Amino acid sequence: MSAGIMTAAYIIAAILFILSLNGLSKQETAKRGNLYGIVGMAIAIFATVFSDGVSGLAWIILAMVIGGAIGVHKAKKVEMTEMPELIAILHSFVGMAAVLIGFNSFIVPPEVIPGPDAHAEHMIHLVEVFLGIFIGAVTFTGSIVAYGKLSGKFSSAPLNLPAKNWLNIAALGSSALLLMMFVNAENGSMFALLLMTLIAFAFGVHLVASIGGADMPVVVSMLNSYSGWAAAATGFMLSNDLLIITGALVGSSGAILSYIMCKAMNRSFISVILGGFGSEGGAVASDAEHGEHTEASADEVAEMLRNSRSVVIVPGYGMAVAQAQYPVADLTRKLRDKGVNVRFGIHPVAGRLPGHMNVLLAEAKVPYDIVLEMDEINDDFADTDTVLVIGANDTVNPAAKEPGSPIAGMPVLEVWNATNVVIFKRSMASGYAGVQNPLFFKENSSMLFGDAKASVDNILHAL
Ligand code: NDP
Repeated sequence: MSAGIMTAAYIIAAILFILSLNGLSKQETAKRGNLYGIVGMAIAIFATVFSDGVSGLAWIILAMVIGGAIGVHKAKKVEMTEMPELIAILHSFVGMAAVLIGFNSFIVPPEVIPGPDAHAEHMIHLVEVFLGIFIGAVTFTGSIVAYGKLSGKFSSAPLNLPAKNWLNIAALGSSALLLMMFVNAENGSMFALLLMTLIAFAFGVHLVASIGGADMPVVVSMLNSYSGWAAAATGFMLSNDLLIITGALVGSSGAILSYIMCKAMNRSFISVILGGFGSEGGAVASDAEHGEHTEASADEVAEMLRNSRSVVIVPGYGMAVAQAQYPVADLTRKLRDKGVNVRFGIHPVAGRLPGHMNVLLAEAKVPYDIVLEMDEINDDFADTDTVLVIGANDTVNPAAKEPGSPIAGMPVLEVWNATNVVIFKRSMASGYAGVQNPLFFKENSSMLFGDAKASVDNILHAL
């Protein structure tokens, strides 16, 4: 393939990636956005694989067939609730790829045309290798820890090493010194590179392990951003313009998403980037300090709904686990047919990844216009007769309003202002952040125990 055709293909792919991101930003256009991304990536891969100077085509195709088969198998098997874990582990692949390509590019450096700029070019290449490996290594181990935490293989509690900020500073400082040593050695120093890689691996583990469960959503999108920067650094090493553009798009969109989520959760962006946040845990009151909770039956909740003019449904992770979105959609239809004003209140981090609830509700054909964001609905709870909290916990926890709580400052859906609140869950267990929820013990709250799908089915039956 000629260089001209390849450049044209790269430009088209880059435009498709931008259109893809634009489409993905709204639910109505998300499908189209995905399609643009698929076509863009297909063009990018085709143009790269068939470009001049690429040899060993059979090996590339073999690797793609094996990788593609594993990808298809995984994608078919993964439950929606396991999606964040899958994303986290995929980020780790990007990180490891950056590390491997970095070492490869150091051992077999690109040819430099002799001339006055040769030395500068050599130096730039060494810096690219060093930074690419550093970001890749942090992304690799950080993503593995995130995967472990999200899948419940590691504890979601923050690791609180003494002087943890100093440890981070020491890791960054020693890496900067090793960079000096690396570029000042005649042909780069393998020792400095290896030592920095080990430090970066440890830094990645520490950064993510220090972050508490409730802040994991931000971490996932932050690692997404890191994986983008790692890909961009790889693009510089390989002098591949499209990889630089794609990496920068992923890196900056991940950073913007992290920023938006930090704002939504009232967290400081800088402290998340530095890791170590969600660690200001205070004492959590025990069950005994909260008092008694009240239980309700499905029949009683059906009666409550019959007498309501306005109902707000607040879904959370438990709705996803129970796959209760279909009966919830049926219940919504039934109530709306009876003239009840039914709306949904969605917290920005409800579930296990941003937009999780919106996707489930869209799947069950709940109309978009009654699905409202937290800020749009929070003032309306005082005028709401009944709130159904279906498998949500941290996102409706009034403890967030109390200083000293591990989730202090996180905005929550203020469901307790409604006349009646029904909480659908299986037990009195706490949510992902591991914080007890005083909502369950309020006078206007009742617990409807059991699997959320079965409970909604029972209410439908009673109605
Ligand atoms: P939570 O994890 O706080 O609570 C979910 C509740 O659902 C649990 O209390 C559980 O109680 C209940 N539940 C589980 N399975 C069922 C079932 N089959 N039937 C009925 N109830 C069930 O979820 P939220 O959505 O309220 O909050 C999200 C949390 O996850 C936040 O802490 C957020 O920070 C974190 N997070 C969010 C991410 C994101 O991007 N959105 C990513 C990673 C973490 P029980 O066991 O008693 O049934």
